[in-house]
Amino acid sequence: DLPAEKHEYQAEVNRLMDLIVHSLYSNKEVFLRELVSNASDALDKLRYLSVTDPELLKDGPQLDIRIQTDKDNGIITITDSGIGMTKQELIDSLGTIASSGTAKFLKALKESQEAGMDSNLIGQFGVGFYSAFLVSEKVVVSTKSPKSDKQYVWEGVADSGSYTIREEKYPEKLIPRGTRLTLYLKRDDKGFAHPERIQKLLKNYSQFVSFPIYTWQEKGFTKEVEVDEDPAEAKKEGDDDTKTEPKKKTKTVVEKYWDWELSNETQPIWLRNPKEVSTEEYNEFYKKTFNEYLDPLASSHFTTEGEVEFRSILFVPATRKDDITDSRKTKNIRLYVKRVFISDDFDGELFPRYLSFVKGVVDSNDLPLNVSREILQESRIVRIMRKRLVRKAFDMILGISCSENRDDYERFWENYGKFLKLGAMEDKENHKRIAPLLRFFSSQSNDELISLDEYVENMKPEQKDIYFIAADSLSSAKNAPFLERLTEKEYEVLLFVDPMDEVAIQNLSSYKDKKFVDISKEDLDLGDNNEEREEIKQEFSQTCDWIKNRLGDKVARVDISNRLRSSPCVLVAAKFGWSANMERLMRAQSM
Ligand code: ADP
Ligand code: MG
Repeated sequence: DLPAEKHEYQAEVNRLMDLIVHSLYSNKEVFLRELVSNASDALDKLRYLSVTDPELLKDGPQLDIRIQTDKDNGIITITDSGIGMTKQELIDSLGTIASSGTAKFLKALKESQEAGMDSNLIGQFGVGFYSAFLVSEKVVVSTKSPKSDKQYVWEGVADSGSYTIREEKYPEKLIPRGTRLTLYLKRDDKGFAHPERIQKLLKNYSQFVSFPIYTWQEKGFTKEVEVDEDPAEAKKEGDDDTKTEPKKKTKTVVEKYWDWELSNETQPIWLRNPKEVSTEEYNEFYKKTFNEYLDPLASSHFTTEGEVEFRSILFVPATRKDDITDSRKTKNIRLYVKRVFISDDFDGELFPRYLSFVKGVVDSNDLPLNVSREILQESRIVRIMRKRLVRKAFDMILGISCSENRDDYERFWENYGKFLKLGAMEDKENHKRIAPLLRFFSSQSNDELISLDEYVENMKPEQKDIYFIAADSLSSAKNAPFLERLTEKEYEVLLFVDPMDEVAIQNLSSYKDKKFVDISKEDLDLGDNNEEREEIKQEFSQTCDWIKNRLGDKVARVDISNRLRSSPCVLVAAKFGWSANMERLMRAQSM
């Protein structure tokens, strides 16, 4: 009697469903995290929209998630009072893949299959809504958007290739607003429909959801009741035949009942006192919030007060997912205003591009709730926030570089070295913070990278400049004839093998008042005895002229060098021209 429309899934969804339904994935419990995170997103959306449109809350102000289990029948229901979905939104969201997490998953899946890796990626990417089918045979989504006066029911069965949509007609199933998911568990997965199991999983997966999550739990209390004493007992004790009224006796019984129980901690971790939060808690928060598997390399939790007030926790991920050249949105910074989640689309407004790898949350008390990109770009408050955030990010990175464990910074550098070099090119204002974080190969350390501080410490007393040479490989840098004199004098030379090194250094131009000097350029002044050089110059001037004549236009000048020891000659670049390395770069780029 209730007409249900049949809809086909988009082809990609079918592929995804197939994979999920038939996966041998052992970590099926992630379904709960995914569904709770969707509920939390729906509540976030409603809370955000209701700031400008309070009418949206007319069906009740409470924003929460409620999970009920029926262990006898293997059913779980998850209800949120969030934004809900209209009929069209149901079709668009739960039948096609437009959603962020799921699309990313498919892309990674494709890449991993191409690379021949195993496809067990489900846990790494929330595959979102469809993960319900990791444990369910049938999923029913009943949902009511405040934009519509009707409630719609989506129903999907594993392995069927299609789903149905109908209007909710049963009055007892109507909800004021939001979404109720009913999961009919597969036979082998019915064990998830236990209240204690759900509560345990919530602890594991959803402790950082900022809305209350209630679970339907059996509870008990003890009470004393008066009961008649057993007459046989009374007789034995009394030991006479006198008939008496049965004696009264009190007994303790346990009264059972069911009720909602709050199952998560809703105070956001960034509002807590940093002194009272352990590293483990930060790491957990990070992993849960950003769907990461590894602990971060570092974190920083701080509050700023005064001119602008905001709280933030920043993290450096242990691995890099996005490349610096990616134009994709990184969604690495979650912006809150007075605890209301606003958006994760404003990374570019809060951090410069070269720090786009930093992840974290920022919660401001000074921005308006209806903040937009335009407002952010114009805002003086945001400019100040950005400055502070950048400074804190540098402190955090410096922390890694000072860590006892040298591996940490090596790992950091491997992942993010290019980002910092880009910073040296783009952000003059922060040169002082970037320079000490840079790392280079050197003529005196085998394959280990050194910092500029280490270089400066190792300088000879009479040495004035920081020497470098750029080449296309470490071995050609090490074997360059330019090095001979400097090696003899035991001067250390930085070996630039990454094309970005030279450009970055040219932007810095000096470090601790020491100039960077390219040893492949003419006029290299090593502070030698110039009188002697003049004599030699005179003596060989005819030889030089002769060579210049023979080479013609191929060289600009032929001169006596003071930098060689065993090689007879070397080609050097003009002082104000490009280095040979830069020429190589420019040539490569113009091809
Ligand atoms: P993602 O969360 O990454 O967008 P999902 O597959 O988890 O991907 O969800 C797909 C879409 O379905 C969501 O973007 C949202 O529009 C919609 N959706 C899922 N669950 C809910 C819910 N409880 N309330 C409202 N909309 C929902
Ligand atoms: Mg989701």
